[in-house]
Amino acid sequence: MSLVQLSPRVQELQRRLTEFVENECIPVEAEYQKALGTGEQRWKTVPPVMDRLKARARELGLWNLFLTREYKEGAGLTNYEYAVLCEIMGRSPAIAPEACNCSAPDTGNMEVFAKYGTAAQKEKWLVPLMEGKIRSAFAMTEPAVASSDATNICTRIEARRGGYTVNGRKWWISGAGHPKCAVFLVMGKTDLSASKYGQQSIVVVPADAPGVTVVRPLTVFGYDDAPHGHCEVVFENVWVPKENLILGEGRGFEVIQGRLGPGRIHHCMRSLGMGERGLELMVERVQGRTTFGRKIVEHGVVLDYIAKSRMELESARMLVLRAADMIDKVGAKNAKKEIAMAKVVVPTIVLGILDRAIQMHGAGGVGQDTPLADFWAGMRTLRIADGPDEVHTRQIAQLEIAEQNARLAARRSRSGLAAPAKL
Ligand SMILES: Cc1cc2nc3c(=O)[nH]c(=O)nc-3n(C[C@H](O)[C@H](O)[C@H](O)COP(=O)(O)OP(=O)(O)OC[C@H]3O[C@@H](n4cnc5c(N)ncnc54)[C@H](O)[C@@H]3O)c2cc1C
Repeated sequence: MSLVQLSPRVQELQRRLTEFVENECIPVEAEYQKALGTGEQRWKTVPPVMDRLKARARELGLWNLFLTREYKEGAGLTNYEYAVLCEIMGRSPAIAPEACNCSAPDTGNMEVFAKYGTAAQKEKWLVPLMEGKIRSAFAMTEPAVASSDATNICTRIEARRGGYTVNGRKWWISGAGHPKCAVFLVMGKTDLSASKYGQQSIVVVPADAPGVTVVRPLTVFGYDDAPHGHCEVVFENVWVPKENLILGEGRGFEVIQGRLGPGRIHHCMRSLGMGERGLELMVERVQGRTTFGRKIVEHGVVLDYIAKSRMELESARMLVLRAADMIDKVGAKNAKKEIAMAKVVVPTIVLGILDRAIQMHGAGGVGQDTPLADFWAGMRTLRIADGPDEVHTRQIAQLEIAEQNARLAARRSRSGLAAPAKL
């Protein structure tokens, strides 16, 4: 669904992507999970079906759609256009985004290389990432400190022997478990005496550099999200050359701002796809079973669940499309409030829809025969990952207050009224 008429090219992509996801991705979800196997094998295996689907997505022109038109390496779409397409990929979140080379955290990392990378960094890392030959991870969060405030990060990146030495322990590093994960973007402190937001830098660390240890995969409500996973990773005296610095010393915050804006919206777009699939499963289920002499759908409260889910999903979509449109028109930096609002509202709404869909499936809803429980677990983490709700809500309130104060000051100045005296 789009608010504006999409170009013929985007309509065609929409049609092709829908067919690809419905007919080629969703039907192989169970095969993909089974092929991952058990134990250690889960972190060493990329199910062959993924490579097959990648080749197919390329053939269909559904490759690297996320990188928008300001990048010469991209597919030439706007964020708005990508939003409409990304939602479709979200319907099969474990398969379709990776098959189309549009999955997190690679998309954000590719954007960093495209936006801030040197020619040599692009050649070495961006090219194979865009080819889908390697995967990557972004390492910021640390077990020892409250990482929703990234100024707390204490990994050290110190200038040594003509390069940098990295020491620190990270966790919840998505993608670090993938057998093809070849590179980390690591955030740490280069200068403890600099200003609060000027201490952090980001360096590129090859996954096979001596001193990098993937300690363990973590689980999300019991799901390990293999093969990419979310891992604890230790960097111990890892040395990288000076050329591996991204953008410049002390510019880590600038880089994460550039990376997280569109990335947050991508999560929201995919979430809408999961919400749509949850609602579809709910509607199908309640028409197929009977309790107390009537179909489940005929109980009034169930109609309420369906209507509420549809209304909420539509309003969530409006927020996402508006944020995407704002990024296109005024840039991610000036769309901070819209991005934050979508990031808070969408996962909460989709969680509610998935919860109702699970409820309507009874015990079947919490088991492995539908994707609902897995979707629910993933969606619940989104209220924490990429910044917890409270941090975004705080930012929304601060921006709202600043905007209202500016409007008030302008009104006063137009009417010649003095500001009230400070108490
Ligand atoms: C599935 C998953 C994948 C992830 N992937 C990555 C990744 O790839 N790379 C990476 O670096 N990190 C990743 N993370 C980590 C994630 O970004 C952090 O968990 C998040 O930023 C919160 O940091 P924290 O866990 O240290 O929570 P803390 O900073 O300890 O905060 C704990 C809680 O305190 C509350 N809180 C914090 N600030 C405020 C406030 N101002 N007002 C009110 N309450 C507040 C919030 O409820 C918050 O959840 C991932 C996390 C998950 C769950």
